[in-house]
Amino acid sequence: MNKGKETVWITGASAGIGMETALLLAETGYQLILSSRRKKQLEDLSEKILRRYGTSVQVVPLDVTERKEVEKAVRGLPEDWAQVDILINNAGLAAGLDHLQEGDINDWERMIDTNIKGLLYMTRSLLPGMAERGRGHVVNLGSIAGKEVYERGNVYCATKHAVDALSRAMRIDLLGRGIRVTNIAPGLVETEFSLVRFKGDTRKAKDPYRGMTPLGGRDVAEAILFAITRPPHVCINDLVITPTAQANSFYVKRNS
Ligand code: NAP
Repeated sequence: MNKGKETVWITGASAGIGMETALLLAETGYQLILSSRRKKQLEDLSEKILRRYGTSVQVVPLDVTERKEVEKAVRGLPEDWAQVDILINNAGLAAGLDHLQEGDINDWERMIDTNIKGLLYMTRSLLPGMAERGRGHVVNLGSIAGKEVYERGNVYCATKHAVDALSRAMRIDLLGRGIRVTNIAPGLVETEFSLVRFKGDTRKAKDPYRGMTPLGGRDVAEAILFAITRPPHVCINDLVITPTAQANSFYVKRNS
């Protein structure tokens, strides 16, 4: 396991999978840059990491949909944090669950701007440094929604199919540059994801996890840790991870 001081930039670190990944990677000895829009959550996480592991992290509040903000944040990194070895493109969301003909166009734009364009802005800003150094790793949070399409998942599924395609495209374009690209495709993970999808409706947000044991953020974090701690000649291309009670987007075994 890599106990070195590689620098990892995690987007969407204020909650869910990103937060659990930050905690696990801090425990493992990585130097972390943590981003999301909510500054307070990042600061609380930073304090927790300092208290638990004695390591300080770089908090970079950021909206990944704002291209200029992303470019400025990358340019503004302190010198000893500027060499980012691993980028974890985790920031993302689903908004709404409607048939396409009834869909909210604002929801579509948020998902496209965050899940596709935000991932591209971050990646485009950090890849040149990795290519120059001849080493690096990009981990993209896709989804099983990027492997198959389910009813009313339309635009969210389209954005995650785009993430899947971009992960494959990056591996082709970066061939010979010493940069690894991993696509992580989870099924049901209990985080703030569902609360965001249903716009704060706590009753609706619980429904996807009814009568079954979903994954937790930590389960996905452990898969990310596995991918980034392989020897440099090994690239984990794609990991599909579901709860045992979930076969795919359609089939979920529920007890009630
Ligand atoms: P979550 O608990 O809602 O966390 C999402 C994170 O993304 C938050 O930290 C949020 O922080 C951040 N974020 C959202 N919009 C952002 C923006 N414009 N700029 C910067 N950060 C932004 O959800 P999660 O389940 O951990 O999701 C993480 C990733 O896993 C997403 O890409 C999601 O699509 C994917 N995924 C989730 C599931 C699942 O079932 N949960 C399944 C498959 C894939 P702020 O609000 O503070 O900005």
